[in-house]
Amino acid sequence: MPETILVVEDEPALRDTLSYNLKKDGFAVESVGDGRAALESARKLKPDLIILDIMLPELDGFEVARILRRETTTPILMLTARDDEIDRVVGLEVGADDYLTKPFSMRELMARVKAQLRRTRLLQEELARQHKTTQHATLVFDNLVINLTRREVTLDGKPVQLKPKEYELLEFFAQHKGQMLSREFILERVWGWDFIGDSRTVDVHVRWLRQKIEADAAHPTRIVTVRGGGYRFEG
Ligand code: CA
Repeated sequence: MPETILVVEDEPALRDTLSYNLKKDGFAVESVGDGRAALESARKLKPDLIILDIMLPELDGFEVARILRRETTTPILMLTARDDEIDRVVGLEVGADDYLTKPFSMRELMARVKAQLRRTRLLQEELARQHKTTQHATLVFDNLVINLTRREVTLDGKPVQLKPKEYELLEFFAQHKGQMLSREFILERVWGWDFIGDSRTVDVHVRWLRQKIEADAAHPTRIVTVRGGGYRFEG
């Protein structure tokens, strides 16, 4: 999916030039010509980046940035009309991430846009990683512990040797504790659409898993069979 950019600029010629060049570079673009429309579009569209002129009808760019900053972390690239130190300082104070002084080249604008998007992407990846390691590092089911970060499983404190697909299947079960999961659903989610095989693959792996994590594999209490349906992980 292309990244979306909201262009806020009241000069039609510049607005069109910006839109044209951004679209040519593969971005989805929406453009508006005043501050109120900017707020509306930003809330509705949730763009990946906002290019925001300062001198605008209705609300000026500073005001728009100030309001949006309370609602979103979307990067804002401000366009200042002249090489005005005060505009830049105020722009950064109200929460703009970068600014460009008119006139600017499209090449420079593109470089700034891409730098901001890259920064946001890295930040989001970092946050996702942190979230995963701090919030969901381990899943504990009595004596069975699944370490999601290290992809390791212990039973009564002793490591359980699992093949990669056995581990993925166990993790999938653990993330859906108490839910009835059909063989087809498991196959699709653990093996993927392009897997050439059938639902017996799931049965075979469940059997292997049971031998490794059940107290009595012949009478499983962790991964139970749901008649006519599939499996349910009880914990
Ligand atoms: Ca303007």
